[in-house]
Amino acid sequence: MTDRLMSLAHNPFTRGLVKALGLPQPTRLARAEGGWAAQPFANRVVVLGAAPGGFAAEGAQAAFTSGGARVLDGPPSDASQRVDAVLFDATGLGGPQDTRALYDFFHPLLPRLARNARVLVLAAVPDEAPSPAASAAARGVEGFVRSLGKEVGRQGVTANVAYVARGAEARLAGPVRFFCDVGSTYVSGQALHLSGDVRAASAVPLHAALSGKVALVTGAARGIGAATAERLAQEGARVVCLDVPALGDALKQTAARVGGEALLLDVTSPDAPVTLVAALRAGSGGVDIVVHNAGITRDRTLAKMTPEQWEQVLTVNLAAIVAIDEALLGTGALRDEGRLVYLSSISGVSGNFGQTNYATSKAALIGYVAALAPRLAARGICANAVAPGFIETAMVAKMPLMTREVGRRLNSLSQGGQPRDVAELVTFLSSPGAHGVTGNTVRVCGQGLIGA
Ligand code: NAD
Repeated sequence: MTDRLMSLAHNPFTRGLVKALGLPQPTRLARAEGGWAAQPFANRVVVLGAAPGGFAAEGAQAAFTSGGARVLDGPPSDASQRVDAVLFDATGLGGPQDTRALYDFFHPLLPRLARNARVLVLAAVPDEAPSPAASAAARGVEGFVRSLGKEVGRQGVTANVAYVARGAEARLAGPVRFFCDVGSTYVSGQALHLSGDVRAASAVPLHAALSGKVALVTGAARGIGAATAERLAQEGARVVCLDVPALGDALKQTAARVGGEALLLDVTSPDAPVTLVAALRAGSGGVDIVVHNAGITRDRTLAKMTPEQWEQVLTVNLAAIVAIDEALLGTGALRDEGRLVYLSSISGVSGNFGQTNYATSKAALIGYVAALAPRLAARGICANAVAPGFIETAMVAKMPLMTREVGRRLNSLSQGGQPRDVAELVTFLSSPGAHGVTGNTVRVCGQGLIGA
């Protein structure tokens, strides 16, 4: 879909008018095309700092140096040199007096940030802190990062926080690479929880990361599902693409593009779980990654909603997923160290007018991953939800013009996301490098101002 304001703001003839009218002037966001590079930070300048007493800087430093970065401990001495990524280890904050370290570190760096730069702050888990004062300081980091994200978003800069549990600092390579590289372009203002409780991955390749893995993507004929299938295949996965028979042609095209298989199946049909397990077993014995992406909307205010509209949405977006998971987990078709990713929505976080059915289903998925994750940790399986904001797909094309325009702008980056942006996050969560990330719901919404 065309973003007309973006075009006008970057056209030399109309740029002045956009500015004079006080309209948002969204930055063109940097996006990757291929898969993850072996050295994603080659030719990039990274500034790494730490508050005294922290425990996570070493893991972060290793992720940057193995990725080819030039790592500095403060602003570059060459005044013209921009900074591509900034990471601050705040796990050592012991109380209110230590929060000043955030100001002292970031204040001089802000004018030096490159367009589309990345900011990541590591914090201790507040519940693990030795005192209420230390918990306060750890939780304060989240307010700092979310506010900073709103201030720097106009330059396409993102800011996120990762709470690092004791023992999880050895699992930072994947998250640091994702949150400090270009693929996280539409993920900002998020708090990720990194746990040491999941059985560690036997191998953590960070490049061609899904080589040898089998992935299932539901709703893969178009939109986010098709982009996800492509992205997983770029990292080396063999992708089984599933969608309803009515979209058979589009599905076959996706499958052909990614060198995978097309599986025509309605996830709500009573025999879908059995059929799916049989198909996955017949293919390569099982599956490593399942992306529950298929979803529908049937928007109406509750007063006007028919029982059918309620049922359809809850069945596709929730009941079918739970039934399929029971079959995948019950039969062992989902292999150890597997990854489950669920497409929730910001409507599930904040609710939305006319979407009681949809928001119920999407909020339910947030509760579902939180409950499922600890039950699967011993097998090394991670379960996470992704909550997209306004993503330019067929689903949002149906919106009335003004609703669509408001939805597109109400975020720190002042623009909609692309299906590829969601696919990048799903791919990270599907990777061995995400072995400390489970039970999370991560928004990919450009730091939406609604329900943030
Ligand atoms: P889309 O409508 O373009 O694609 C959804 C796909 O799911 C379609 O190909 C459809 O045929 C398939 N599907 C629907 N019912 C199915 C069934 N019973 N069995 C098998 N396949 C079925 O939607 P999208 O925008 O790409 O959204 C993908 C997911 O992301 C959905 O779960 C949606 O709720 C979620 N989401 C999207 C946005 C957005 O802005 N586009 C925002 C938040 C959440």
